[in-house]
Amino acid sequence: MTATVLNGKTLSATLKAELREDVHRYIAQYQQAPGLVIVRVEGDAASGFYSKAILRIANEIGVTARLESLPEQTTAEELHTILLDLNTDPAVHGIIVQMPLPAHLSQDLVANTIDPAKDIDGISPLNAGNLVLGLPSFQASTASAVMEILARNDIQLEGQHVVVLGRSNVVGKPLSLLLLQKNATVTICHSRTRDLPSMTRQADILVAAVGRANMVKADWVRPGAVVIDVGINALPEGGMTGDVDYAGVQEVAGALTPVPGGIGPLTNALLLKQCLEAAWRQSSARAAH
Ligand code: NDP
Repeated sequence: MTATVLNGKTLSATLKAELREDVHRYIAQYQQAPGLVIVRVEGDAASGFYSKAILRIANEIGVTARLESLPEQTTAEELHTILLDLNTDPAVHGIIVQMPLPAHLSQDLVANTIDPAKDIDGISPLNAGNLVLGLPSFQASTASAVMEILARNDIQLEGQHVVVLGRSNVVGKPLSLLLLQKNATVTICHSRTRDLPSMTRQADILVAAVGRANMVKADWVRPGAVVIDVGINALPEGGMTGDVDYAGVQEVAGALTPVPGGIGPLTNALLLKQCLEAAWRQSSARAAH
């Protein structure tokens, strides 16, 4: 058996076309474009690369986006003030703060300052809490990307056993809650889980979000299972690979996402989708007053 490839690139193009249409509808109704601001405190090179990729997609679909690039010495007070200003700016509907921050700035400061209505990557306690309660929320775009690729490929979740490898706040945890909302039976594994292969072999759907190159081997996968690889691991020789040993697992799995070209290309499209959702909610709330 060779697994069906779940292609994130093609889906990302479809999503972008849909988002472009939604932006047109929004502009027709409110005579302004949805606005996104990416706040980046300089220091981490990779986050600069991610910021540019988000700006490119925003530009493609017609969202007004800008990068607020702050020097590495920015103080907590200065960052706090900048976020408060963005919270009250009616032209800004979505705010994301690139991680990691320099050591003297805490993620908690950002999570507790950013207006939950503009928190399109779901880092605020209110959005995280609403996700736990099953109420409408914004959630981490990578978790949304996994849900999107499953839904768009008609992969049923109800009653299915999904094993999630990884329990981070940005992938494993929010994803597990979203899967639970869809009535999947969810097992969450992490670095202290004993005998991982015996857990993963029980999965109808296996999601790897660990950050260990090629960790999931063919004999970890039940024949016919759906395997979603969230991992992005830089290779010493350049390029990247996922958490799943693609060559081996494709012989066993029923369907599999590649790296690159799987979840990665979808994540930013989902971020923009949530920005647009934030714009619609904020504008309709303003219009109602
Ligand atoms: P974290 O490092 O925050 O979390 C990794 C998780 O994996 C932790 O829960 C950790 O367990 C668990 N883990 C680590 N080693 C093992 C092991 N040997 N066995 C079992 N579990 C283990 O990473 P992220 O969640 O942020 O990211 C995970 C991967 O996804 C990375 O490769 C990252 O680059 C990628 N990623 C991809 C994105 C995309 O857009 N495609 C976006 C975000 C991340 P414990 O909690 O016990 O430490």
